[in-house]
Amino acid sequence: MSFEVKTIWLNGKFIRWEDAKVHILTHALHYGTAIFEGARCYDTKRGPALFRLKEHIDRFFLGMKALYMPVNFSKNEIKNAILETVRRNKLKDCYVRPFAFYGYGNVGVNPKGRGVEVAIIAVPFKDYLPPKPITVKIPPFLRINSAATVRGRKISGMYYNAALSGIWANKHNADEALMLDAAGNIAEGASSNVFCVKKTKTGITLVTPESEDILEGITRDTILKMAKDLGLKTKIKRVTPREFLKMDEAFFTGTAIEIHPIGKLNNKKIGDGAVGEITSLLRNYYQKIVHGEIPKYRRWLAFV
Ligand code: PMP
Repeated sequence: MSFEVKTIWLNGKFIRWEDAKVHILTHALHYGTAIFEGARCYDTKRGPALFRLKEHIDRFFLGMKALYMPVNFSKNEIKNAILETVRRNKLKDCYVRPFAFYGYGNVGVNPKGRGVEVAIIAVPFKDYLPPKPITVKIPPFLRINSAATVRGRKISGMYYNAALSGIWANKHNADEALMLDAAGNIAEGASSNVFCVKKTKTGITLVTPESEDILEGITRDTILKMAKDLGLKTKIKRVTPREFLKMDEAFFTGTAIEIHPIGKLNNKKIGDGAVGEITSLLRNYYQKIVHGEIPKYRRWLAFV
């Protein structure tokens, strides 16, 4: 499936896909001074709907504020622009990328006085990865430290760390990287959060790392909330790589990756290395939620 679509929203206007170009002296291209968001639209029985759009727009605006971007659009205007972008491109299952960046000007690092451009891109999107357990490895570099940036914001410049991790992982025969934080504990995936499952006599617990150096994702929040419905306990705590290896199951979470099983860490199996029963349960329930099939979560859907 081609990812190209008809139109992109740029600074309040719809332009043709092939016209969505920037100059080589765009500030963000040199210094990563951009904010991006990634939201999903699912084809539901009642038509296409964006999942947790409010939370994605809120995070987008917090990001723009963190980079001191003057913003000329309200949250409602961005919401309408997103819905209209999906509509005009006749998309159903798609990925939506709101994007704000410091634009054209001279080569100086300080973007003061530069214009800010805002774009909304929507591309067809279904499964990010085939649902087989992936292998992960811990790269020799850390997840970018939150103390050196603004925590919890999707700032483009920080993503060289994620991009590099992916390349490193592939070069070392792994599908994805699992990042450590500055304390040497498990942080997150390159662009996803991570959970593990611990089964004991007293019940089943979902564990996700407590760390300064993670993006506390929207999918992570969804899973923590829906776990109760499935009778699962949840715990946010520090997890060492050694503890991670003793878990019964593990999976990545994120808007794009959804819930994806991890089979091996550094060549060692997690549990039996297959898709775990709790991971499957969560995957199925998550699909029901995003497709509007669980009434109490329908408020999370914004219909196109
Ligand atoms: N961590 C990082 C570094 C990410 O880029 C993402 C993807 N946005 C996530 C976690 C997962 O966040 P979400 O569930 O909000 O997509």
